[in-house]
Amino acid sequence: MDIIEIKNLRLGFNCECGWREAIHNVSFSLKKGELHALVGESGCGKTITAMSILNLLPKNARITEGEIIFNGNNILSLPQREMNKIRGAKIALIPQDPMTSLNPLYTIENQLLEVIKIHQNLEGKEAYQKAVEALEMVQIPCAEARMKSYPHEYSGGMKQRAIIAMALACNAEVIIADEPTTALDVTIQAQIMNLLNEIKHEKGTSILLITHDLALVKENADRISVMYAGEIVESGNNSEFFICPKHPYTKALLNSLPNKGKGRLETISGQPPSIQQTIDGCKFHPRCKERMEICECNHPSETRVSRTHSAKCFLLNKKGVDF
Ligand code: SF4
Repeated sequence: MDIIEIKNLRLGFNCECGWREAIHNVSFSLKKGELHALVGESGCGKTITAMSILNLLPKNARITEGEIIFNGNNILSLPQREMNKIRGAKIALIPQDPMTSLNPLYTIENQLLEVIKIHQNLEGKEAYQKAVEALEMVQIPCAEARMKSYPHEYSGGMKQRAIIAMALACNAEVIIADEPTTALDVTIQAQIMNLLNEIKHEKGTSILLITHDLALVKENADRISVMYAGEIVESGNNSEFFICPKHPYTKALLNSLPNKGKGRLETISGQPPSIQQTIDGCKFHPRCKERMEICECNHPSETRVSRTHSAKCFLLNKKGVDF
């Protein structure tokens, strides 16, 4: 069952050079209790797509088309007041840098109690107990004592756990994790991902993981959508994606992963296009090793490879795959 469905989302920015569309007709869904990874190079549009779900967009950004359905309602049409009730309570964000969410001037206890009061309408002993339980759930040692600490007294991994505890204390149905482990070392990274997986399995929480780290995705994601230049170019479940990728960009990303005995790592030549650049045809064609004449002036539409796997590439049509 889909908990979030993004349908034909278009979003742009008012730049110095005028209006520029950054997200082109993006559609994907997040199912209940799944971890869906949105992957791609920096600047491909994955974070802004995720932020549109929370309606946390920069002032110069605007959604021009599309729907974001959460539990059956188009949240894009909700008044700000209603959206505030969903944000943080039902859909929580784990940012790359936890200090953007934690207030350095207040203790973890103050901050946990505040979200519990706002989103769960609890106060006093009940709220305090819920806060301790949430910190215990994310395995903060001596949780009750550590409630009194200020954020700077927590390590990077503990701060991320405290943010996850806030989502748990509010019983968030969806967690958007935006590069949640980038600032952490490898062992702490694994602990945070294990924690997210536990929450997914035990509470049925849906997780949208924004990342460029394919090793992390391989280990943890149920489904993967690849973004390039503001479009989703391939979507599939974990085995389809890693065993039989279809889009040349996905293949190039996978070939650039470190692999024992493979020798030199492959790189993808060139750079992803900036928002100012207009590219006709397939947006990946200037960097694609398999490009054909048709790719330079025609835009490939989505081709379904299986019930759960699709990609946008003319090669799929050319090979005449029976879908
Ligand atoms: Fe490469 Fe053409 Fe496929 Fe684009 S449509 S990825 S340029 S082969």
